[in-house]
Amino acid sequence: MKKLFVFLLICFTVIQPTHQYVKAENDFYYTKDIEHLFTHCLLAYPEIAFSKNNEMREHYNTDCITHNEFKFILEELYKNNYVLVDINDCYSVENGVAKISAIKVPKNKKPIIFSFDDVNYDHKKLHLGMIDKLILSDNKIKEYTLINGKENITEDREFVCILENFIKKHPDFSLNGAKGTINLTGYDGILGYRTQKDNNINRTEEIKKAQEVVNYLKNNGWNFASHSYGHYHMKKISIEKFKKELDNWKNEVETIVGHTNIYVYPYGEWEITDDFGNISQKHKLLKDYGFKLFCGVGMKQFYSYLPFDKNIKEKSLFMDRKVIDGFTLKNRTNFLNPLFDSNLVYDYNYRNLI
Ligand SMILES: [Zn+2]
Repeated sequence: MKKLFVFLLICFTVIQPTHQYVKAENDFYYTKDIEHLFTHCLLAYPEIAFSKNNEMREHYNTDCITHNEFKFILEELYKNNYVLVDINDCYSVENGVAKISAIKVPKNKKPIIFSFDDVNYDHKKLHLGMIDKLILSDNKIKEYTLINGKENITEDREFVCILENFIKKHPDFSLNGAKGTINLTGYDGILGYRTQKDNNINRTEEIKKAQEVVNYLKNNGWNFASHSYGHYHMKKISIEKFKKELDNWKNEVETIVGHTNIYVYPYGEWEITDDFGNISQKHKLLKDYGFKLFCGVGMKQFYSYLPFDKNIKEKSLFMDRKVIDGFTLKNRTNFLNPLFDSNLVYDYNYRNLI
């Protein structure tokens, strides 16, 4: 009997897939297979973004998607049985270290995380195709844009409103009220408010307004991650500068959005070990600052522990994110098509203006 037990135990251990754990439970199952997609602020006014005299149009064509493309993507994801989950439900923290958690999802659904990078509405890009800022009005989030000196308030052009509207129409697209993760830098403020220290004009008022928007978002299923302060190349800056950047994020952004466990590398450029294969000083700093889940960029799904080197016992939880932008919609269809039909999504009308 004991032999049989050991035999069964060995068989069970061998056939268990290492990357995935699935267990049926009534109408739900548990899984560690989680897709993470990300994009940038949407092109709310594609007719401006892609117009001939817009110096940003090539950049936008490569790095961004339009509000209509985002709407199509949501329709497609919903049709293909994806469900939004909260990134903070996908891991647990034990003794200060993040471990992958299986997430409980309805049987017919596949979990997905959506995150949004660089949501500051950089003043250098104002009036070139994106909105100016998110505002709180009538106890909901709206979009504010000045066009030819005229205030334009909309509710269907940026990812926050579009996602909120979509979930109102399809509540089962969101598991337990999950929305998305907003990845913030701080060098030019957040969400369209100039909250950075070097802004001496109306800074207190800007922080107050940003705080109202943040509070609303946090109470409605959104969460925040650090995307560094200055959007630098991690490998190119000195350790001293790197520390200063972390201090700035903590003093100017964390004070508004609260603590986050999640660090999203600018340009997807990450460093965990140094040239000698040891944990790098910069990675140690990130951990000292309380970051526990590290997000990169990659078209293949990856959610695991790094470094791979078995001799290094100190592991960090790492999650790659698939980028959705003009370039990948056109050139990485093999990676995107299991999620949605990118050809159907691609906004030929506007992009052909380029
Ligand atoms: Zn970025």
